[in-house]
Amino acid sequence: MDKVRDAAFEEPTIADDDRHCKQSVKPLIGIPSGWNEQSQAYHLEARYVDAIAFAGGIPVLLPFDTRESTLCELCSRLDGFMFAGGRDLSPLLYGEELLPETREPSEKRDAAELALARAALETDKPLLMICRGMQLLNVCLEGTLFQDLPTQHSRTLVHWRVENEPDPMHQIEIAKDTPLAFLLGKTQIEVNSRHHQAIRTLAPSLRVMATSEDDLIEAVYMADKPFVWGVQWHPELLYRDDEPSAALFRAFVDACG
Ligand code: MN
Repeated sequence: MDKVRDAAFEEPTIADDDRHCKQSVKPLIGIPSGWNEQSQAYHLEARYVDAIAFAGGIPVLLPFDTRESTLCELCSRLDGFMFAGGRDLSPLLYGEELLPETREPSEKRDAAELALARAALETDKPLLMICRGMQLLNVCLEGTLFQDLPTQHSRTLVHWRVENEPDPMHQIEIAKDTPLAFLLGKTQIEVNSRHHQAIRTLAPSLRVMATSEDDLIEAVYMADKPFVWGVQWHPELLYRDDEPSAALFRAFVDACG
């Protein structure tokens, strides 16, 4: 009995993690969650979270909240934002009707992410926009998308995997004198591909950073922002074995630090 009471009153020891916390400051990176309508549950693949932690950031998963006051708080307290892949954006956002090939969009997620992206851009927060994230950035800045590559683009490469097949890989050409070319020190890399949509008309404030052989935009950036990059591929699925993908996450987290 006494032993139990002693244990209960024992001073808690400071965990190594807590000590570490007092000595260094890791950037807090907000990641908007996806949404599963059927189960009414927030949803995000763990690889996105793992990649940020791997690169030295602390991932913070975000629910939907479009209130001005919340967006303002998030932009002042968090150090950067990463937007993940996911469902097709509503084409109504760029003035088109839904094609039969376009997957039913999530209006909730579209609205929440667009509001957060705008707030983050206004406050010059570093942004890493992956796949749907890059498409959202383009639409947010008044660009448009191919709703469905197989029916709208005369492509020569496979950008979309068939169910249960591994992601196709294809080469991209990185434009010289862009931040990605400087970061990697090369102008060609192999990337994975799991998109059936892509940028059609580039937003005026974005610049092309990489293209595929069949002329799709595979990476963009904003020249007048400290770090606003979009990539069409999925570095979160590659970074463990692929140096360019690892370098991309490190560069982003460094920019947030
Ligand atoms: Mn591709």
